[in-house]
Amino acid sequence: MRTISLPETMFLAEDYEALLNKFIEFSNSKNITELDLVCGEFSKDLLGKRLLNDCSSKFKINLYINELPSKSNQWLAAIGGGKILDKAKYFAAQNKINFISIPTLISHDGICSPVAVIDGKSLGAVMPSALFVPLYIIRSSPIKQLHAGVGDLISNFSAIEDWKLAAKYKQSQIDDFAMMLSRRAVMNVVQMLDQSDLEVWQDISFIKSLVESLVLSGIAMSITGNSRPCSGAEHLISHAIDAKYGAGKIAMHGIQVMVATLYLEALRGDNFDYIDHLYLDTKDFCHPERSEGSFSIKYSKLKTVLAKHNLPISFEDLKIQGIEDIISKAPLMRPDRFTILNLI
Ligand SMILES: [Zn+2]
Repeated sequence: MRTISLPETMFLAEDYEALLNKFIEFSNSKNITELDLVCGEFSKDLLGKRLLNDCSSKFKINLYINELPSKSNQWLAAIGGGKILDKAKYFAAQNKINFISIPTLISHDGICSPVAVIDGKSLGAVMPSALFVPLYIIRSSPIKQLHAGVGDLISNFSAIEDWKLAAKYKQSQIDDFAMMLSRRAVMNVVQMLDQSDLEVWQDISFIKSLVESLVLSGIAMSITGNSRPCSGAEHLISHAIDAKYGAGKIAMHGIQVMVATLYLEALRGDNFDYIDHLYLDTKDFCHPERSEGSFSIKYSKLKTVLAKHNLPISFEDLKIQGIEDIISKAPLMRPDRFTILNLI
């Protein structure tokens, strides 16, 4: 038998009152008397200040804006997007303290994972002790944030194929439970998108489902203790794009890994389709001689679903030229991660 880390509480709040009540209930159950709260400027105004005011009669809260505490308390909560959550979760791991994740954006799969991405590097962090998700804030966030969250899930397709390939070349071992969760996480969202029109992005059921999928991805990473179930060559390509142009200059992380995932589907050959192949063993699909022009005419079930929702599907959509240079540098981003790029 083995044990895995899971948050003790996960609460998806449809309004502020529900979030506040659950947050206080959890804090009481853990006898929290003092808590450090880290926010960005924006997330402070969205939620941080209000939570501080409404909880200060129950326990002491030390508010930090865009910075981490100089010395740690036993409890640290972070409100915000990927950067803030990642920094806080890494700090919690370094200081062996408890971490509470309160994402106000769901543009990536780190809302509930033991992996932090800092300066383009994946670092070991802690799983949150609790996850509080203000759905009412996320629902009104810019749609590109939701697109990026879907994109980071889409990358599971490529990560899973790379994982199978790495296992075949004895560079990794498959963990069936982690793979199951990674598969379910992405298919959950793809099936909903396939069956819906553009209005689904405003649908609270879809947003809940998206949060659940991101949490499933996080748990898959918690099982393996690394990002393997959700990160393969497509993440290396995205890191190489960031290295060349600067992080966030071309597109959000989730969008870059999604486009790279479709590129790698084409690279695996005309007869390869992620959705059809999800439960099959790997084959050495690889056609490095293909030019990018021919990628765009390849039929792909996944690409069809994403295009229907107006998501970018090619590097041209991201206005990236000279992708060959980026592809050649991608494996250097993380030489220990065996992917399809090791075969071309
Ligand atoms: Zn990612």
